[in-house]
Amino acid sequence: MNNWTEIDAAALTANYKAIQRVAGAEVLAVIKARAYGHGAERCAPILVRAGARWLGVTCASEGQQVRAALDHAGLEADILVMSGSLPKDVPAIVSAHLIPVIWTTDHIDLLAGIGCRVHVEVDTGMGRQGVRPGQDLATLLARISAAGLRLDGLFTHFCSSEVANSNLTLRQRALFEAAVQQTVTAGLTPAWLHAANSSAVDNETPEPSSGDWLTTLAAAAGSQTMVRTGLALYGYCLPIEGGALHHLSPALQPVLTWKARILAVRDLAPGDTVGYNATFIAGPAMKVALLPVGYADGLRRELSHPHGWVMVQGHPAPILGRISMNLTVVDVTAIPAASAGDEATLLGPGITAEDHARLARTISYEILCGIHPCG
Ligand SMILES: *Cc1c(COP(=O)(O)O)cnc(C)c1O
Repeated sequence: MNNWTEIDAAALTANYKAIQRVAGAEVLAVIKARAYGHGAERCAPILVRAGARWLGVTCASEGQQVRAALDHAGLEADILVMSGSLPKDVPAIVSAHLIPVIWTTDHIDLLAGIGCRVHVEVDTGMGRQGVRPGQDLATLLARISAAGLRLDGLFTHFCSSEVANSNLTLRQRALFEAAVQQTVTAGLTPAWLHAANSSAVDNETPEPSSGDWLTTLAAAAGSQTMVRTGLALYGYCLPIEGGALHHLSPALQPVLTWKARILAVRDLAPGDTVGYNATFIAGPAMKVALLPVGYADGLRRELSHPHGWVMVQGHPAPILGRISMNLTVVDVTAIPAASAGDEATLLGPGITAEDHARLARTISYEILCGIHPCG
């Protein structure tokens, strides 16, 4: 590979522990989407050694790969499959001891007789997955016991957790509280209650008199609390909209570095052009380096000249012309020592996923999980 990613295990460990400290709850480490581009099989053992007893993946096949990586390292963790399951997923759920998220009676039919633990998702406003509190939840709860499944968790997912004092979040909390009440009244005690993602931990407004709302609720229900964090593990958080209080992100460090090895260095004469459609034309003479990386690897084309840069020997090297599928040209006129074989940093010290996201008009999530070196 001429472009590749590296992860900082110490930073990942420190981020995990910082989340534990701030959240004051069990921390489920979300490693879906190749651990947001960091590599699930690479990150899972590090996170388990850091103290994670729960890992979150999106589908059963990801869960199977993570289970194999843990077995290989002689480690154990509970693995929550956070999206819905289909009939083809059942063998993997059984063989890799995965814990599926369920929310319909079809899911129960699928899993009946397996005797596995399940987590029920309650839809309180995300409008994506989840059972609605009320009659639908009552039907589901009755069927869970009848099918021999064990209700290990009840949870919901916030749609606006990065917004300060969001009324949507308050309404979702109230609906989730009602769902917990309903579950307890039905005679079931889920071992775990969970709701918060990274932003919800970062944005949690302290409530000194009552303690954290979920902790209070869990104590009343006889359950334990968990948070499900992904982005923060990798050292990033969204800005909080409408407020400046970050409880978590100041303690986080980026984990990923993405590098490429310079393939060649050449000189440009005044008037020489670079890349498709010749969008860059050299003014004075300059020195440029060719990098074996492009949008096929996840280097967003929006970083093309005059927006993006990479770091070479600690100095910014602006991207020239358009980023191609597998090749990118950068300006190293100001870095005379740069030569073929040197490393260039595409994302890491000096250029963050937030820089990429701003230039590509997206969020750091999409940048990170879009990094997939192929060349
Ligand atoms: C992806 C995901 C998370 C993690 O979200 P972050 O914002 O990355 O912390 C948590 N819960 C669910 C249901 C998710 O799909």
